[in-house]
Amino acid sequence: MTRRCGRHAVVLGAGMAGLLAARVLSDAYTAVTVVDRDTLTDVTDPRRGVPQGRQVHGLLARGQQIIEELFPGLTEEMVSDGANLGDVAGDLRWYINGVRLRRSRSGLNTLTSSRPFLESHVRARVQALPNVEFLERRDIIRLNATEDRGRIDGVVVADRDGTEELIEADLVLDASGRGSRTSARLVELGYPQVEEERRKIGLGYTTRHYRMRTDPYRGDIAINIMASAALPRGAIAAKVDGDRTVVTAYGILGDHPPADPEGFHDFIASVAAPDIHDALQDAEPLDDPVAYRFPVSLRRRYERMTRFPRGLLLMGDAVSSLNPSYAQGMTVSALEAVTLRRHLARGREPEPLPYLRDLAADAIDRVWELMIGSDLAYPGVEGERTPAIRFGHTYVGLVQRAGTRDPVVADAFLRVIALVEPSESLMRPALMLRVLRHVLGGSSARPAGRPGTVKKGAPTP
Ligand SMILES: Cc1cc2nc3c(=O)[nH]c(=O)nc-3n(C[C@H](O)[C@H](O)[C@H](O)COP(=O)(O)OP(=O)(O)OC[C@H]3O[C@@H](n4cnc5c(N)ncnc54)[C@H](O)[C@@H]3O)c2cc1C
Repeated sequence: MTRRCGRHAVVLGAGMAGLLAARVLSDAYTAVTVVDRDTLTDVTDPRRGVPQGRQVHGLLARGQQIIEELFPGLTEEMVSDGANLGDVAGDLRWYINGVRLRRSRSGLNTLTSSRPFLESHVRARVQALPNVEFLERRDIIRLNATEDRGRIDGVVVADRDGTEELIEADLVLDASGRGSRTSARLVELGYPQVEEERRKIGLGYTTRHYRMRTDPYRGDIAINIMASAALPRGAIAAKVDGDRTVVTAYGILGDHPPADPEGFHDFIASVAAPDIHDALQDAEPLDDPVAYRFPVSLRRRYERMTRFPRGLLLMGDAVSSLNPSYAQGMTVSALEAVTLRRHLARGREPEPLPYLRDLAADAIDRVWELMIGSDLAYPGVEGERTPAIRFGHTYVGLVQRAGTRDPVVADAFLRVIALVEPSESLMRPALMLRVLRHVLGGSSARPAGRPGTVKKGAPTP
């Protein structure tokens, strides 16, 4: 079978970005090989190559939509295997500044499961594609280039014994994550150093799994108590596969949740609403807390390069690795898969620089800006607070306040953070009027209060 763009594409890395890339490339290349250092077949637990997989992983509505489109029926399959499906605005409990957003029905799905569960379901679908092969337990050693260095024509990999092998390819797509060595390899091949943008956040995550003896959610599938400028600590609890609840606490700029059980519990008690802390009173811990540190968000500006070898593309965290507390990374990979598909639809091998520029414009720029704007709302975070950013903080603060009273405003806000609508959608005149009416008409609903200050089980708006 001959496909339009070439014979053989090799994908480096079988994380979410690599899997989505392989799915899209399988429509355009005769054969696709996915290389990863880990054992993958039948693996449903967290694996070494994706250490962040032990932490909570929320899939935003936009990512869920794209993944369902690429793998029709996957959502239903995951739900029947134990994932939880709900409405973003109706079945998730959102707290901002300790005040609960008004519940509404957005019509947007959210799926809660562990990261390994999601990844293994997507991987099973990719493994079932007749022209995709997985090469497991292989270390990526280096990109191979033609003599004139103008094209990447393969990749050298090594098995567990250290035996090296060259895999020839018409196209190599690097999805090997944040630790990708492509930028260094390009320098070795005589290309300029890619510009890197780093945004310090000093984030610490700690996660533990529980079995709930009672249902603390009252029908909801997750509780998200968001960090805010006033209290830059947050916590998330979500029902996940295996009849478990994942609980993650996070803090920024070195204020990290401890990984000992008591310290972790105390940290959860200190976030802006008591729901998760209350829920844990009657919960059975299933493991020890596990910590993860994320010092800086990182963006490699490949789209700004002026020279780039043919036959090489990148996707996922290898290009941009974002503050995970906004749960955007997998959705960015899904948006990037859409960009890749568009370039492949032209019926010839994608040209790297136009592809990388579109990747930035379509999938990364907006999310990166949203992340920077949100990070700068925390007083200690370094960076220039331009008048536009300050205005954004003030206006979004008003939107959030209004969203605690008005389900239409809450829904509009959640559509933006689910990456379904651009942030400009919050500036629609009709919505601005609603926001102003609520803000001028009175304050937001009362904060939920810290543990001990709110009656346990008190009804929320
Ligand atoms: C703590 C934390 C929490 C997060 N939470 C969320 C969330 O809630 N929602 C969300 O959407 N995103 C979240 N993310 C981001 C998300 O994990 C990634 O953005 C997303 O998985 C895309 O990553 P990727 O596939 O590019 O890379 P990765 O997931 O890192 O996968 C890279 C793959 O490449 C393989 N590999 C790497 N180097 C080599 C090598 N030399 N040889 C062979 N194989 C190699 C690895 O084994 C791995 O399989 C979170 C990230 C972190 C750090």
